[in-house]
Amino acid sequence: MLIKTEGIVLKNRKYGENDSLLTIFTRKAGKVNAIAKGGRKPKSNLLAGIQPFCYSDFVLYKGKSLYTISQCESKEIFYSIREDLTRLSYGAYLLQLVEAVINEGQTNHRLFSLLGKALFLLKKEDIEIQSIIRSFELNYLVYAGYKPHLTSCINCNTTEMKDLRFSIQEGGILCPKCHHTDPFALRVSETTIKLAYYLLNKDIVEIQKLKIHPLLNEQLKKIIKKYIVAHINIYEFKSLDLVDKL
Ligand SMILES: [Zn+2]
Repeated sequence: MLIKTEGIVLKNRKYGENDSLLTIFTRKAGKVNAIAKGGRKPKSNLLAGIQPFCYSDFVLYKGKSLYTISQCESKEIFYSIREDLTRLSYGAYLLQLVEAVINEGQTNHRLFSLLGKALFLLKKEDIEIQSIIRSFELNYLVYAGYKPHLTSCINCNTTEMKDLRFSIQEGGILCPKCHHTDPFALRVSETTIKLAYYLLNKDIVEIQKLKIHPLLNEQLKKIIKKYIVAHINIYEFKSLDLVDKL
């Protein structure tokens, strides 16, 4: 069976002597593992479209356990992400997040489109990278089925927004009367919650130049990281740790 679909390459690793094994997030077939025959040969005509980040048109042949790439034409190779260590690290982090949450054969059109938009923004010069990454993370959590509850106390539903904590376990904010329901809940400012709510309700393209105060960004970043570790199958953020050291 042949499938023609757009896809974003999440991973490309060596497979045998001359082949590459790719993990591709495709629009039509979800995440697939596919072999690029001869993909490691310098003259392979697949080469341009099968590197990580590549956004390409694929023709895939479905075998018993793996797909084989029969044609691949790159639409965007994101060269400017790959040549800059900061952008590369953030880009790799986005690919890691997506890979962790999409199962084989499972489509997610909203996440596909979010990843595409985020990569196109990351290659631009005049952007606020932190805003783009926070917006991606929050919307990603929604599309992955872990939408944080930010408009009222997750326990008693009061909308009084003072002295708040965020419960990683329950996935939402707690008012002072309900702090005791989760002793591990994290202190969070009302402004940070408002910022997160704003980012959740705006398209990522609209916030590309939004400047976030570093302290707010740090608070939000810390909560999101813990939230991802608790709910999604990721325990290490090698590329994020790298970019923090730059
Ligand atoms: Zn409450």
